[in-house]
This record gives sequence, structure tokens and C-alpha cells, in this order.
Amino acid sequence: MRIPSQSIRLAAAIRASYQQLMQRVFRALEDAPAPPSGPRPLVASYLLGALAIVLGAAARIALDPWLGDRAAFWFFMPALLATAATGGWAPTLAASLIASLLSEALLARHPLVAADQIDAGLFLTLSLVIGLAGAHLRRVRSDSAEMRRRVADRQAHLQSIVDTAPDAMLIIDVAGLVQSFSPAAERLFGWTTEEVLGRNVSLLMPQDHAIAHDNYLARYLQTGERRIIGRPREVIAQHKNGEQFPVQLFVGESEAAGARFFTGFIHDLRARMAAENRVQGLQAELIHTSRLSALGEMAAALAHELNQPLSAISNYLKGGRRLLLDENPGSRALEALDKAADQSLRAGEIIRRLRAFVATGESQREVESLKALIEETAVLGLVGAREAGVRVQTRWDAEVDRVVVDRIQIQQVMLNLLRNALEAMEDSTLRELEIATERGETGMAMVTVRDTGPGISPVIAERLFQPFTTTKQSRGMGVGLSICRSIIEAHDGRIWVEPNLPKGAAFHFTVPRASHGESGAVQGDRL
Ligand code: ADP
Repeated sequence: MRIPSQSIRLAAAIRASYQQLMQRVFRALEDAPAPPSGPRPLVASYLLGALAIVLGAAARIALDPWLGDRAAFWFFMPALLATAATGGWAPTLAASLIASLLSEALLARHPLVAADQIDAGLFLTLSLVIGLAGAHLRRVRSDSAEMRRRVADRQAHLQSIVDTAPDAMLIIDVAGLVQSFSPAAERLFGWTTEEVLGRNVSLLMPQDHAIAHDNYLARYLQTGERRIIGRPREVIAQHKNGEQFPVQLFVGESEAAGARFFTGFIHDLRARMAAENRVQGLQAELIHTSRLSALGEMAAALAHELNQPLSAISNYLKGGRRLLLDENPGSRALEALDKAADQSLRAGEIIRRLRAFVATGESQREVESLKALIEETAVLGLVGAREAGVRVQTRWDAEVDRVVVDRIQIQQVMLNLLRNALEAMEDSTLRELEIATERGETGMAMVTVRDTGPGISPVIAERLFQPFTTTKQSRGMGVGLSICRSIIEAHDGRIWVEPNLPKGAAFHFTVPRASHGESGAVQGDRL
């Protein structure tokens, strides 16, 4: 049989309209609030059904003169629809049963014909279908409401992460326009979300970077070549007030509703860079002091060595002068010998002064916090310690924290002790380093650096604090501990070493504590 093409088109149009209608219904259901559940709404549904039945029956009775024995059941259709929409299948079934009985009662005045029975059957079947459809729709509505609630929860959760994240976060679209701007980004850049939404992200960069960024974005979209995405980069950002500052940028890409977006995480590098500069400055200062002290120590050692030959020269000259005086009292050489003796005495005096200077040295003593001073040194002294698996423990006694010292010099002592301890533990399996402050002898604070290395070699134990004592074949000069001793003794303190049980060495030194009320610089001290 050939079906006319007109019929096919009509059927297709009907199917399309039906599908559209169903889509609208489902969208409306998704947007609608969740149907209330529980015993109270069910009671309300029964009451609504009862009311609709009463009204239906009243309308049917009023229209009876015109309707005769026709259309009894259909007046109860609103009751069925109302119960199906509000209460599901149970109230609908109850309404349909009552409606059937009432319809039968209304028709009882007329002779009952087969058509009435068919009407009743159809009515019951239809009410069953309406009841089941109502229950199904209610379930769909409650499922979609549950889904919307979960989506809203997740969105709130994500939003709270974005709001509290310490790093700035922003989202841009493929045109570079800002779609989202976190509170941390507001703080970092000085712009409010309202001000930047929809504007080009180049607003947050210096001019030259902005042009490069636009080009980069265009090239990426054309070629797919990734230069920033997925790789952290250090770039320069710009505050609303024009201030430029270094940041670390991490860009990710995402797709939502068919559109592409880029998410940027921005970490402010200013604090890190300031700390690095500070450490570098400190390092340079310490290295400089260390070099000066090393030279001073060497000069002192040389002076010691030169003193003896100079004394010998002086003695020989005196002896020679005496001999010459006996043999040739008028010799002009006598004068030359006198001058030579004077010069050797002068050389001795210069060397004596040099030793005295190295031993005492100018110093700026101030009231310092021992803990702060040591922690500052540890930043430098413990570089690489964690990577080497060294466990560092500290113990601070707040009672003895205020000391009167030359900060740089004591930091040099600490640096030397820390580096020695780390080097000593290089071949140990157990690597534990303890730094502690506690009360020393009267008026003194004691600092301890304890390690689990091999301990002090008995070969050098006697001469440990003397210059040029070292067990390090190629890299040690052996002047570190002697410098430490000069510095600590110049502070009226002591430095000594004890074995650390069961293994290792414990270096201790003491420095004077600040008396109550003492603060600021102690000027003009000569150590
Ligand atoms: P250097 O480190 O240049 O050798 P130092 O005067 O600082 O000079 O140290 C002298 C020597 O003392 C070192 O070579 C080492 O043998 C020994 N020493 C110092 N500290 C320790 C320590 N914590 N454990 C074992 N030996 C140490």
C-alpha cells in the first residue's frame, strides 16, 4: 500500500511538535521547585481532589437538564488531574473510584445503557494512566530538584575554594576577556570584579607584555602551539596604580558549553624575592667578614712566625755592633748597624700592633635576640640540609634570648659551626642536628650545636681551636674554629667541644646576656 507523501509530512510534523512539547514540559519540570513530599501534602492532595469532585458533581447536576444521560464521568476529570499532579497515584485512584460511583449515582435516574458502562471503563483506565503519569512526573521533578541542589552545592563549594584561595585566580575566554576574578585577584591587582569583568586581561600587564599576550593567544588559537599552558612562568604583572611586580603564572585550559576558557593562577613573588635578596645580602656580608677574619688570622700567624727572625736579627746586630766597637771604635759602620737595629725594632713593633689589631678588632655590640640571630643564619647555614636528609631540631630558652653581641660576628661563628656539623655528618647514616640556647654561667647565655657525625678526630683534638688545624684534605683551611674562638673570647665568652653520646660532637659557646632594661646599641666598645 502506498502512503501519500502528504500523510508522511503530516506525521513528521506531528512527531516534531510532540517532541518539542515534551521538551518544554521537561524543561518546565526541571525549573519547577521540587514537589513537596510527606504526609501533609498528601492530605492536601486528597482534600483538593474532594473539592474538585464536589464542584464537578455540582456542575454536572446543574447541567443535568441539558445533558440527560450523557457526559457524567468527564466532569470529574479536573479532580483526577489535580490529584495526579499534587499527590501521585494513590489520591488519583481514590478520586477516580469516588468519581465513578458518583457518576453511576447521577446516571441512575436514566436507564443504564451499554455506552455508560463503556464510558465508565474508559474513565477508570484513563484515571489509572493519569495517576501513573502523575507519579512519574513527580519523580522526575524530585530527581531534577535533587540534581539542581547537588549542582548548587558543588558550585558553592567551588566558589568557597576560589574565594579563600590565597593565590589570585581569573578566567578569560578565547578573546582574552575576563570572565571571572577571584577576591585574591582583587587584592593583588587593586581592581574590583565589576571593573574587570568583560575587559581584556592585558589590563593586568605592562604595555609590552599585553601586546605579546594578545599575539600569543592568537597564535595558540591558530596553531595550537602551547607556550604557557601547563607550564609555570615568571612574568611581570601590573597593579591598578601602575606598580609592576613579579608573579608566577600557571595557566590551564578548559571547555564549557562548547566554548574554550583559560584559567590563570597567579602567585605574588615579591615576598620570595625580598627574602632571597635578604639572604643574598646576608651571605655576601658573612662571606666578606669571613674573608677578612681569615686574612686577619693569617696575618696573626705570620706575625708570630716573623717575630722570632726579627728578634734574632736585632740580637745579631747588637752582637756585631759590640764586636765592631771593640775592634774599630771610630768606624762609620757602627751608625749603619744602629740604624739597622732601629729598623728591625720598628718592624717588630708594626707586627705587634698588627697582632693586637687582629686580636681585638673594631666591633659594634648591640642587644640582639639570640633566636632571631641564629634563625637568620640557619637560612644560609642549613642550605641543602633537608635534601641531604638531615633532621634539624631547635630548642630555645626565651629567658636568655636577649644578648649583647656583634650580630655579624656571632652569625659567623654559628655559620661555621653549622657548616662543620653538616660536613661532619656527610658519611653518617644517622643525621641529626640540634641547635639549642640555654642559661650559661652567671650573666651568660649558652648556645649548643650538636651533631651525630664521627666526633672530633683525636689527632687534632688538642689543637682544634688553633689556626690551620684541619682534617679536610682539599677544601678546609682550618682557620674557622680559631676565628670562632677569637670572636667568642672577644665577647668575654668561652667556646668548647664535648663528645655527643653515643656519637658526634657538641660545640658550645657562651655570650653575655643583656641586663634588664638594656636595649639598642652599646657604642664604642672595643672587644
Ligand atoms: P676547616 O673546617 O676549614 O677544616 P675548622 O677550624 O672549622 O676548619 O675545623 C677544623 C677541624 O675540626 C675540621 O677539619 C674537622 O676535622 C674538625 N671539626 C670541626 N667541627 C667538627 C664536627 N662537628 N665534627 C667533627 N669534626 C669537626
